[in-house]
Amino acid sequence: MSVRTRADLAALPGYVPGRSIPGAVKLASNEVSLGPLPSVVAAVAEAAGRINRYPDSGAGELVARLAAKLGVTEAQVSVGCGSVTLCQQLVQATCTADDDVLFGWRSFEAYPIITQVVGAGQTRVPLTADQALDIDAMAAAVTGKTRLAFVCTPNNPTGTALTKPELDRFFDAVPEDVLVVIDEAYREFVDDPSVPDGVEVAKEQWARGRDNVAVLRTFSKAYGLAGLRVGYLVAPDAVTDAVRKVFVPFGVNALAQVAALASLDAEDELLARCRDIVAERARVRAALLELGYTVPVSQANFVWLPLGERTAAFNEHCLENKVVVRAFAGDGARVTIGTPEENDLFLAAAKSF
Ligand SMILES: *Cc1c(COP(=O)(O)O)cnc(C)c1O
Repeated sequence: MSVRTRADLAALPGYVPGRSIPGAVKLASNEVSLGPLPSVVAAVAEAAGRINRYPDSGAGELVARLAAKLGVTEAQVSVGCGSVTLCQQLVQATCTADDDVLFGWRSFEAYPIITQVVGAGQTRVPLTADQALDIDAMAAAVTGKTRLAFVCTPNNPTGTALTKPELDRFFDAVPEDVLVVIDEAYREFVDDPSVPDGVEVAKEQWARGRDNVAVLRTFSKAYGLAGLRVGYLVAPDAVTDAVRKVFVPFGVNALAQVAALASLDAEDELLARCRDIVAERARVRAALLELGYTVPVSQANFVWLPLGERTAAFNEHCLENKVVVRAFAGDGARVTIGTPEENDLFLAAAKSF
């Protein structure tokens, strides 16, 4: 006899991480290609001497720093073991099997998996023809069962971002008992002034008495700490309280906390790197357009090639050329912006496809 696990897990797709292939350039996981800053490595090395102790479970120092930086109270900030864990906590805190989570599709591939693990239902709203979130269709898709809506902007994997009027329309349309989570994993790569800062947008809604807007950010992308797992939620007290109820104690490890603090100390340097990536993004997109590819304007550290049925062949071709991209079969390929040399290797592969 074998152990009895949940029957519904059989239908659950596994999360597919970007592949790492020795000797190949990895542009598959939206990581920053450059290694961590020496100051961050030194802080982690120093803290390693104390790993016999449990970490601060509430990450108090990091929460205080983030609250001060963002102009919110400490009670309005909650950190998690990567923002993907906070996504899961948000679904756990809002949904049971009778409830629904709403998101655009295609969007971050963890949303459907997390939703299914919690056992809630899901509503996926197709993107527009321009590969952007169809925010009006999302608003129209809210039902009495909807408890949470993930709004990923810039959207992973398409890179498109929402404007302030679009977000405002959505807030006005969605009932106040539905939590709207703006997932801003790529905020630091935005250079279009018409794309608002989600935290500012959320604060504006809170000031109007609308306590159903939250924002997720991460240290994994712009801050280069993907391997350490730390992200944060900015939300009204009632939401952060609920999220803390479903957290796993000590989820954010001691080295992650120290590295996040050291990264905030070195923020200018890290954000300068982001600007270099943004410049490369423009160069890569222009080169791809020149080659005849369709590439939506991206506000993130990757570009999206909606190749449809040609995606699998494109993926194989890139692998043969020692470039690992993230392919979603039948849909498109997402390519992280790396160093200029890495991007040149990718562009050479794209040219010979
Ligand atoms: C990468 C990513 C995250 C999660 O990042 P963590 O490493 O878990 O902090 C969350 N949302 C989106 C849209 C992402 O692309």
